[in-house]
Amino acid sequence: RLSEMVRALKARVVKGLALIEVGLDFSDQDIDQISRQQLRAELGEMVADACNLADTFEGTKRRQDGYLVAMVGRPNVGKSTLFNALLGEDRAIVTPIPGTTRDSIEGLTTWSGEAIRLVDTAGIRQTDDPIEIAGIERTTRALLEADVVLAIFDCSAAWCDDDRAAIDLLSGENVLVVFNKVDLARRLDRSKLESVGASVEVSALTGSGVDKVKRAAAELLPVRRDVDGVGITRERHYDCLSCAIRSGQNAVGLIDAGEPDECVAAELQAGLGALGEMLGEGVEEDVLDSIFSDFCIGK
Ligand code: GDP
Repeated sequence: RLSEMVRALKARVVKGLALIEVGLDFSDQDIDQISRQQLRAELGEMVADACNLADTFEGTKRRQDGYLVAMVGRPNVGKSTLFNALLGEDRAIVTPIPGTTRDSIEGLTTWSGEAIRLVDTAGIRQTDDPIEIAGIERTTRALLEADVVLAIFDCSAAWCDDDRAAIDLLSGENVLVVFNKVDLARRLDRSKLESVGASVEVSALTGSGVDKVKRAAAELLPVRRDVDGVGITRERHYDCLSCAIRSGQNAVGLIDAGEPDECVAAELQAGLGALGEMLGEGVEEDVLDSIFSDFCIGK
């Protein structure tokens, strides 16, 4: 289906080139005004369709690699316990001693059919310990990259400054507030968290509510972009499309500037080459190299 789409793009460029060639080869004059308008429309459509297809690249790649879900909270709220419960395995070390998770750890899982890279980050708190500070810097980076952030709070403890420090790191609409330890008596004042985002309750220790966390987080994943179910995943395809888009845009610019048909034709030839390369036609040496390295096969 991707090939069909690329062939359709190519057909538009071929048609454009044919329009120009007719003018160049079979008459003494440049192509007339009507043909130029037709050519411009044809190229405009090609650029729009190619842009739509190129825009799927980031989304489909993300989907293939797994969406990044980062867990954040002050030490001892139960992040590691929840991390293990969400993965269904004992990965992170759980202790009652605050500050034991000093580095991020990552696990792979699937929620609502989507591949997830779950990251348990170092607990956020005011500290002078250089190892902990480095861990907190990593947490900040993970939060920036994350598709969804699980902000964990301990229901059984009163609000404290380190909770505030965790909240200060949060921004955006991709935050799910997770109230953990609901199996214990509640002491947390939740009113401070109302503006942060949607919330769920869980007991990481008993496992109750863990599925709710997965479902609610999956709903916050960024919307996937595709064109009729087709998306591009390969860097090489993205580069070819980008090249075809640039050629199309340049060609339209040249037409608008009233430049000679030969210049427009040269741009279209470049675009045609790029689309042909995507379809495996007229493959050049460096493309062959990239194919061989991508597939790990010898020449
Ligand atoms: P982290 O520092 O945020 O990673 O917290 P941990 O996962 O290491 O948990 C800190 C302590 O809280 C441990 O003693 C856990 O057993 C306990 N804990 C974690 N989740 C729950 C829960 O849902 N209920 C109860 N009662 N205890 C919990």
